[in-house]
Amino acid sequence: MNASLPPVLVPQADPGASYRAQKAEIDAAIARALASGWYILGRECAAFETEFAAWQGAKRAVGVANGTDALALILRGLGIGPGDSVVTVSHTAVATVAAIEMVGAVPILVDIEPDTYTMDPAELEAVLAAPPPGVPPIRAVVPVHLYGQPAAIEAIVALANRHGVAVVEDCSQSHGARVGERTCGTLGRAAAFSLYPTKNLGALGDGGVLTTDDEALAERIAALRQYGWRQRYISDLPGVNSRLDEVQAAALRVKLAALDAANARRQAIAAAYDAAVAGSALAPPARRPGTTHVFHQYVLRCGDRARVQAFLRARGIATNIHYPVPVHLQPAYRGRVALGPSACRETEAVAASVLSLPMFPELTDAQVEAVCDALRALSG
Ligand SMILES: *Cc1c(COP(=O)(O)O)cnc(C)c1O
Repeated sequence: MNASLPPVLVPQADPGASYRAQKAEIDAAIARALASGWYILGRECAAFETEFAAWQGAKRAVGVANGTDALALILRGLGIGPGDSVVTVSHTAVATVAAIEMVGAVPILVDIEPDTYTMDPAELEAVLAAPPPGVPPIRAVVPVHLYGQPAAIEAIVALANRHGVAVVEDCSQSHGARVGERTCGTLGRAAAFSLYPTKNLGALGDGGVLTTDDEALAERIAALRQYGWRQRYISDLPGVNSRLDEVQAAALRVKLAALDAANARRQAIAAAYDAAVAGSALAPPARRPGTTHVFHQYVLRCGDRARVQAFLRARGIATNIHYPVPVHLQPAYRGRVALGPSACRETEAVAASVLSLPMFPELTDAQVEAVCDALRALSG
């Protein structure tokens, strides 16, 4: 840390602020869970699953330990594993790709649309028609609704259906995003949600949930998350341990009730940032027509990112980069993962120029104004 920097006045994210905003209710919910004497897969998790499914408009929700497991358990539930390939993007949290490899499947990483930062359907179409050499058959595609913006899901579902491939939505950044009137997470076979503390719906530790309209799939995954049990101590399937605990579920129920208002606040902050950068060299995030963006992140593109970041930081405004290195260039994956036809050219350009501004619902109006003033000063 440079000693001459001023203190951070506007953090980029602040999960503690989310807890403090509902402290009394969350503390009461946690106290209720603690007093119950039942800490794993009890009433709170069951109630959270019912409430989350209803809020989503899905038939079933299953609580699990984290978002990575949610994705992996869906793939396992669909019978996808060794000998199968799964298509996703390289411009995502590494967890998306890690989940595919966790089940023993082979990831194929395709490029993104440069304006929405989400999967380019033309790249998906190309790999479905002519898979990269040496990969096993493609069984699923995992679009990521990145930063809160729906991917081109209708085109992706149409292509997947034509090729008999399952669509598994990664909704870890898109709780509440919509395509028309339909909620992201109800548009494919199943959807995975991380409940990591900074997500739009965040626990006070790790958590995850998945949704599906397929009752048999939900039942299979509910067994897989607990050693493959359908009845206690008898494993029907070779399962894992990935459960959402009662304390997290109790807190999540409180936060779920406030999620629509929290997303609306994110959208209002995004509109203020849009106005502040209008006409400047900073490119505001595009909105896909007919969809609702829930701004997990507000991500600018700028030519001279280091300068912009330093300018804002000198005014006490923290920023972040999601993500500085595409998955296919990270040491664990470099040179060994199959790519789409463009070799992720747009992904690499985007990774070099994106910048995430402060974004969380508890930002005060004064903090938002400070960011807007700095953005105007930067371009003025
Ligand atoms: C956060 C995130 C995940 C993983 O979630 P964990 O709960 O950390 O396992 C997966 N995909 C995306 C796009 C994410 O942002």
